[in-house]
Amino acid sequence: MTPEDFQSRLSKWHEEYARELPWKETRDPYLIWLSEIILQQTRVQQGLPYYQHFHSTYPTVEALANAPQDKVLKSWEGLGYYSRARNLHAAAKYVTEELNGIFPDSYDGLLKLKGVGPYTAAAIASFAFDLPHAVVDGNVYRVLARIFGIDTPIDTTSGKKEFAALADKLLDQKDPAGFNQAMMDFGALQCTPGNPDCDNCPMASHCFAWQHQRISDFPVKSKAKPKKERFFHYLVFTDGKNTLIEKRTEKDIWQGLYQFPLLELSEAKLTAENLLKKIQNAYPGIPAIQFATKTETVLKQTLSHQRIFACFWTLQTDRLFVPEEYDWKLVQRSKLATFAFPRIIDRYLND
Ligand code: SF4
Repeated sequence: MTPEDFQSRLSKWHEEYARELPWKETRDPYLIWLSEIILQQTRVQQGLPYYQHFHSTYPTVEALANAPQDKVLKSWEGLGYYSRARNLHAAAKYVTEELNGIFPDSYDGLLKLKGVGPYTAAAIASFAFDLPHAVVDGNVYRVLARIFGIDTPIDTTSGKKEFAALADKLLDQKDPAGFNQAMMDFGALQCTPGNPDCDNCPMASHCFAWQHQRISDFPVKSKAKPKKERFFHYLVFTDGKNTLIEKRTEKDIWQGLYQFPLLELSEAKLTAENLLKKIQNAYPGIPAIQFATKTETVLKQTLSHQRIFACFWTLQTDRLFVPEEYDWKLVQRSKLATFAFPRIIDRYLND
């Protein structure tokens, strides 16, 4: 199939089936950037209310830059992959402070923003500035791998290069924005991961995967490494009214979010007696604990490279205070909702 044939089939399909989404209605690079960062690793339906919230709460890049990081993380709560929110905030500060609030209008300039990789730079460059850069996201990998029968793994350097070169070759130079939107919509609506609508597909007569009945073979991925398992024992101190929380400051998952004081151990199994010994070793000087009870369910959260198992221990005490040596906060339990927590802690609090 020639690039012209591909473009023409795609654009006819798009005329009929284009998704209507708020960020498609704007050429403002700030709003397009917001939507693209939110949609990294997030489905449109889940990302949409977050986009609307960010748009109304931080209508300009300056508004986002000037907001405290805690507020931005709270706005992001529930969306996962929090490094996106931290990068969003850092990039907004960079644009505001170093670029006088003016968004870069070139692909290379966009790549200098924290959290913006080749895919996001191509999306903003084409949607906001009509620059001829093809987007290659998960949808595009799948569509191209199936139509052209490419079995190079998409998560390898050579695979990335091969797909990027093909996408660039197919790109409609006269309408890069329309072409990129159409590719993304086509992947999301027609050539879906589990249930592509091949019977009504304008590419079917040229599609390798369909012609060879090998749809589930594409795209190919190299074997994923096993996920690291981590066991978090959260210490939920309580005097009936208050509790203690701390901010995660280390370079690790969930940096900048809040949590209950934590003991990270090598397993989820632990008796209350052993827990108290471990707490005394790890946190000398803490309030005297009268009794410790563990929630029955161990909560699990799977991240891209790790699987987290969380146990929550209620530690009853008469008098709750923050020992001098710890950077903890004493907060009323009723005020916990004003802090941004990882999803696993939100689930515990909502239960
Ligand atoms: S024929 Fe099926 S697999 Fe091929 S592009 Fe169309 S929807 Fe995707």
